Amino acid sequence: MIIVMKPNAKQEAIDHIVQIIRSNGLEVHLSAGQEVTIIGVIGNKTKLADKNLEIADGVERIVPVTESYKLANRKFHPDSSVIKVGNTTIGGDELAIMSGPCAIESQEQLMETAFAVKKAGAQILRGGAYKPRTSPYAFQGLEEEGLRYMKEAREATGLAVVCEVTSLHAIEAAVKYVDMLQIGARNMQNFYLLKEAGKTGLPVLLKRGLSATIDEWLNASEYIMAEGNPNVVLCERGIRTFETATRNTLDISAVPIIKERSHLPIIVDPSHASGIRRLVKPLAMSAVAAGADGLMIETHPNPTCALSDGPQSLTFPQFETLCEELRPIASLMSKHF
Ligand code: PEP
Ligand code: MN
Repeated sequence: MIIVMKPNAKQEAIDHIVQIIRSNGLEVHLSAGQEVTIIGVIGNKTKLADKNLEIADGVERIVPVTESYKLANRKFHPDSSVIKVGNTTIGGDELAIMSGPCAIESQEQLMETAFAVKKAGAQILRGGAYKPRTSPYAFQGLEEEGLRYMKEAREATGLAVVCEVTSLHAIEAAVKYVDMLQIGARNMQNFYLLKEAGKTGLPVLLKRGLSATIDEWLNASEYIMAEGNPNVVLCERGIRTFETATRNTLDISAVPIIKERSHLPIIVDPSHASGIRRLVKPLAMSAVAAGADGLMIETHPNPTCALSDGPQSLTFPQFETLCEELRPIASLMSKHF
């Protein structure tokens, strides 16, 4: 980082800052101009995090040079990460397809869905057991019973399984049943939950917060990784904008931007991004064309009777057709499934 001193900063103020930097084991690059002195800090600037340098005497402003996320940053890890989930991977040559119901409603519903999505080409089954619903009166999920059905579906089909966790209690239950934990959009900045998910060592699917910037999202991934868990996959699921024609606005540019800034895989969820079944196909196609490592798509045996997100859920035939239509685009992007 660079510390820009005020034009009238006294020499004692400059010396004081230099002394703080050096006494924390960092090096200084001093540039004393005609009007302004600039102090470059060389080394791990997190050592200065609690030193309040921005309000120290004579300081005009502090300009960060590198991002605060290090573990997720491509600068320090140029090769793209490939994350192992159950017996499949995300981030390699295979396009990861996660599909399943918004909410696990019954053993039959989940099992039927698991076999249908597997047949179409999905490698990962999704399903919510703890549902973060807008209304407290809406279906809240089957909780541990739902997790049990997930494990049964995994054993029956060989699919890897992912479930959202909304509390420490849910994490403690989920680690017994699933291959991957999902942190939902509403909890992306629940830093306590991120750390607890990190401690499990299980792969974590981190969805982008409803109004999170890309920088905030990558810092959230850093919370998980700082616990010694490098197995993070990002999921763009649409952000809140002024547009009301869709449930959220899919930020397709997040895909190439994440690829530039981070080595972590990124997948796209066109279901929650649009909230509209007929838009799932064009958004899924554009996500793959933009370079996404995978997709998360909601499916249901009978969407009209779904307990949540029926309007955006695909039927099995629709999902199968979509997978067929995605294959040529995936192959143009050197991916297959
Ligand atoms: C979900 O995937 O089940 C979900 C609730 O999505 P989001 O957190 O993106 O709203
Ligand atoms: Mn849903």
